[in-house]
Amino acid sequence: MTTTLITGANKGLGHETARRLIAAGHTVYLGSRDAGRGRRAADELGARLVVIDTTDDASVAAAVEVVEAGGGLDVLINNAGIEERGENNTVIGAAEVTADTMRGTFETNVFGTVRVLNAFLPLLRRSAAPVVVNVSSGLASLTGVSTPDTPGYGYPGVAYPASKTAVNMITVQYAKAFPEMRINAVEPGFTKTDLNGNTGIQTVEQGAEIIVRMAQAGPDGPTGGFFDAEGTLPW
Ligand code: NAP
Repeated sequence: MTTTLITGANKGLGHETARRLIAAGHTVYLGSRDAGRGRRAADELGARLVVIDTTDDASVAAAVEVVEAGGGLDVLINNAGIEERGENNTVIGAAEVTADTMRGTFETNVFGTVRVLNAFLPLLRRSAAPVVVNVSSGLASLTGVSTPDTPGYGYPGVAYPASKTAVNMITVQYAKAFPEMRINAVEPGFTKTDLNGNTGIQTVEQGAEIIVRMAQAGPDGPTGGFFDAEGTLPW
């Protein structure tokens, strides 16, 4: 029996990932920072609710206790993420970005990922086949964002792609430090969710595909990599 925690799973890609992994036989802890939204989502899917705000040490520590009491953890999916937007849902570019904007984004996307990863490492180390999936973005790719005529090139935001590049680096360094675990970063693709004001072009079913696949990586699967549904991505 595989037990999986997905942060930020009350909606969007995390919610769809929960649905798919439950169908695949996983026991899923559906992470939500809001108990009410989480309870509704967990009941709908047949998941276990764990309240977890990835920016809050006490909340994360309480979540570890809940999951440990439930029997431990095999798969951690760091999915919770934000993209700071300005007026009219516009991306905040280099002319407007501030240190505070950067801090808010990094608090969730980067420090939240590290906080949750570190807190759950003791449980993961007790698993026979531990797996971590860090939900990154194609915009994390310095190659992509700096190559003209690619989808990422025209994206003007600063905080969000910088935070996801950091997530990729964290993925590589943790993968080397914990070779007994499969630790990978994934790019779901531009998906219609609240994150982007539902402007994405993929469905959540399409976007969750690579998250679900990497969550099921076996002991011989890749680690320290960056993937989308088509294969390996350039850093
Ligand atoms: P979403 O629908 O906005 O879902 C984001 C989830 O993260 C929500 O459940 C949200 O909770 C949660 N969250 C935000 N801050 C949190 C915190 N501090 N603690 C716990 N949960 C928190 O967006 P999504 O598109 O599914 O995003 C999921 C992941 O995919 C993110 O990491 C995002 O960067 C990544 N991604 C998305 C796309 C895309 O096109 N959609 C593309 C590439 C990567 P609330 O409901 O409480 O706000």
